[in-house]
Amino acid sequence: MNTDSFALRHIGPRKSDLAAMLKTVGVESMQQLINETIPDDIRLKEDIALDAAMSEQEYLEHITELSSKNQVFKTYIGLGYHQAITPPVIQRNILENPGWYTAYTPYQAEIAQGRLEALLNFQTMVTDLTGMELANASLLDESTAAAEAMALLFAVRERDQKKNGANKFFVSEELLPQTLSLLQTRSTPIGVEIVIGDHETFDFSSEFFGAILQYPGKSGRVYDYKSFVSTAKENNIKVAVAADILSLVKLEAPGHFGVDVVVGTTQRFGIPLGYGGPHAAYFATKEAYKRNIPGRIIGVTKDTNGNRALRMALQTREQHIKRDKATSNICTAQVLLAVMAGMYGVYHGPNGLTYIANKVHNTAATLADALEKLGYHQANDTYFDTIAIKTDVSKIEFRAIAEGVNFYYPDEETVSISINETTTLNDVNKIIGIFAEAASIERFYISELITGNTIPPLVARKTTFLENEVFNSYHSETELMRYIKKLERKDLALNHSMISLGSCTMKLNAAAEMLPLSDPMWGNMHPFVPTEQAGGYQFMLKKLEEQLTEITGFAGTSLQPNSGAQGEYAGLMVIRAYHESRGDGHRNICLIPSSAHGTNPASAVMAGMKVVVTKATEEGNIDVDDLRAKAEEHKDNLAALMVTYPSTHGVYESAIKEITSLIHENGGQVYMDGANMNAQVALTNPGAIGADVCHLNLHKTFAIPHGGGGPGVGPICVAEQLVPFLPSNPVIETGGDTAITAISAAPWGSALACLISYAYICMLGENGLKKSTEYAILNANYIKERLVGTFDVLYTGEKGRAAHEMIVDCRPFKEHGIEVVDIAKRLMDYGFHAPTVSFPVAGTMMIEPTESESKQELDRFCDAMISIRKEIDATEKDEPNNVLKNAPHTQAMLTNDIWEFPYSRQKAAFPLDYINDNKFWPSVRRVDDAYGDRNLICTCAPIEEFMEA
Ligand SMILES: *Cc1c(COP(=O)(O)O)cnc(C)c1O
Repeated sequence: MNTDSFALRHIGPRKSDLAAMLKTVGVESMQQLINETIPDDIRLKEDIALDAAMSEQEYLEHITELSSKNQVFKTYIGLGYHQAITPPVIQRNILENPGWYTAYTPYQAEIAQGRLEALLNFQTMVTDLTGMELANASLLDESTAAAEAMALLFAVRERDQKKNGANKFFVSEELLPQTLSLLQTRSTPIGVEIVIGDHETFDFSSEFFGAILQYPGKSGRVYDYKSFVSTAKENNIKVAVAADILSLVKLEAPGHFGVDVVVGTTQRFGIPLGYGGPHAAYFATKEAYKRNIPGRIIGVTKDTNGNRALRMALQTREQHIKRDKATSNICTAQVLLAVMAGMYGVYHGPNGLTYIANKVHNTAATLADALEKLGYHQANDTYFDTIAIKTDVSKIEFRAIAEGVNFYYPDEETVSISINETTTLNDVNKIIGIFAEAASIERFYISELITGNTIPPLVARKTTFLENEVFNSYHSETELMRYIKKLERKDLALNHSMISLGSCTMKLNAAAEMLPLSDPMWGNMHPFVPTEQAGGYQFMLKKLEEQLTEITGFAGTSLQPNSGAQGEYAGLMVIRAYHESRGDGHRNICLIPSSAHGTNPASAVMAGMKVVVTKATEEGNIDVDDLRAKAEEHKDNLAALMVTYPSTHGVYESAIKEITSLIHENGGQVYMDGANMNAQVALTNPGAIGADVCHLNLHKTFAIPHGGGGPGVGPICVAEQLVPFLPSNPVIETGGDTAITAISAAPWGSALACLISYAYICMLGENGLKKSTEYAILNANYIKERLVGTFDVLYTGEKGRAAHEMIVDCRPFKEHGIEVVDIAKRLMDYGFHAPTVSFPVAGTMMIEPTESESKQELDRFCDAMISIRKEIDATEKDEPNNVLKNAPHTQAMLTNDIWEFPYSRQKAAFPLDYINDNKFWPSVRRVDDAYGDRNLICTCAPIEEFMEA
């Protein structure tokens, strides 16, 4: 046994378990199982070509060496990214803690109260600072959030009769360049016309439905937008503001001068730059738009006993669930980063944030004053953290580089300098030195900060913020450490038990994959530094692109999209650009099977396509006859087919090659949703099935932790003909020769998180990846065989095999009065998170164990499911006081002096032996979703207020 092998640590079942598992499954060998599972005509004939697998130790040495190729300069570029201090207590207890980073999206609220509270803190912080009524629990980045704001304002314009037909959106020339690029990408397909201009001369004509302003502007200037906003209002033009969250500590909150949406990033609240991400954006708006908000909102409700409980509010209205009626496709967001930013607010509180904002502002003022003393002209009259020095850039740039300093140069006569939380007096003195030398003037040193007073009362903040108790209680490290632990204990994550979420692939997120994320040589890199400074990143990103290109059997990869859904959107936009380049711009029909994930139709609509739904057969496969009929009917306008493979039903459809060629014959391109890539890697690939583009969910198949609902990385891999259209960035060169505009703010999306997938591939190599896929299939089939006879497994392949996941039918239990949700809640009493509930088929559960789970864990899960089935059989439809309907059972119920249930306490909380050894207690009873939606509260309102509601 080679104990250096990472595959040995990543894959759960031991060699000694293999024989028994194969026997249960009814095959002689792994080979036989794979042959019976994956159709022969799509199997790879040759091994994919990857470097030999590294051991964990070899990888860590390799990545440390690579990090030394990153030159981490003092960077004052700004443009929405500022180096921040991650409080070590947050780094160690959240970022580096699997109790936080391996959790799933909090759909099962009763075992997710910790992160729900952390997200409620985040929403409260954003609501307070922006002065708005409502905030969501994060979006992907500031630029995406701005595009979502534009889409929301466009979607709600119909409500206002006078605005029917208005399709112009005013964009201030002070908007960040990457945000403008995203607005351009998003606007064309939905029929919005972008008009860029100076907000001071804008004419408020009736063709405009909305406008967006940057606060402070990209130049660093702070404008008083009050009269703009009030005139816009008079003209029925809705206004969004992209605001720097730290500046809002000192500047009037946009909500207090009447804007409709405020967006921005919370990166500078303690999140590493990471060469562009991941970071949490925020989105705040008015209560009136609550049904149009993209992303997820956490809200307060009550549990069965009437106690306060949290859950995702308006959950069924998560936009993408509305499919082609959705106005956004956001699914995965940035939960882990939002938790961290919210915790930064908790740790610093209002006084701490005020101190930091003042320090930043005063440092900028001190520097401006010093440079003026050297004879330079500073052009921003009113600023928060960014000053603009008018001088010959060529005299400054090389001197700055030599000193290890990056400024931003918007033109040849301007040096823009953005101060951040980490800027010290030494740093200021170094900058003074650079400018003194350039002017051939003798330098001087400053020894203390002056108090800046460039923010006039008209734009200064007059309102208080973060008065809630949570922001005023945990300012010592001991207190915060314990608060974080208290919340963590309420949440079930992968460090407790298997989370067998079909389609979501909750596999091991290995410590060795995660360690480099804590290294400042990776963390402190600004996304817009000259690429030659980012040698380590450039090597890693290029290599990862090559690895993914090889794994998918394609010709090129873009790492830019920050989630699977953004990958879908990027891929469809690339297809759109391809058709346009061939004079086929009219091709706009997107065929999507009825079983597709909701993000598919939502993304297609965002890409300007018309969705035509195709039927499924009884067996859950694509109805090829129906597909052919529709492809032929629309052959003149067919743009694409979106297909998930293996299907969302967990089956490798044997007709897949026929399906892909059918689409090609009719002029369309094939988009493969790669969520199920864990069933393909190294055995088959999208290239082999005849697809043209796919996205990968690196946060599913390639080991990036789910983070409680994000971050995600959703690269697209494309065939030769689509490579030229891969997305660009307006500041740093990337993408194809005839690239589409940006999909994400940063050139390589969430580069820091890409390290995890890079580690995963480097440490597994071809052999380890292939084995992982095989074991993922074995584990699924093992569960299937153990559950057969107890549950009906819907849809299997032609030889009766599941792929890497399976669907178990819970609809028959309705005759006992039991719904699938009762089983999901009862599983909590057994220490398990439910599998995917009601996707892709209502009333079912989709189980995906992944290769990382051991036979022992699979057996515990199967034992729990079989035990629950017995409990179902013992229930009567007209007697709802039973162990399933009352689930989950809390410690408070068990220890209450009164026990009124017709079963024992032991049966309630310790139904099987293994639970005695490792009990997980849900912290609330079943939450009441409907109550919370009727009484929407999305901030940590005082408890009394809640009780009155
Ligand atoms: C997870 C998933 C998506 C969406 O991915 P996000 O990263 O959440 O945006 C799309 N399709 C399928 C089948 C999925 O399972």
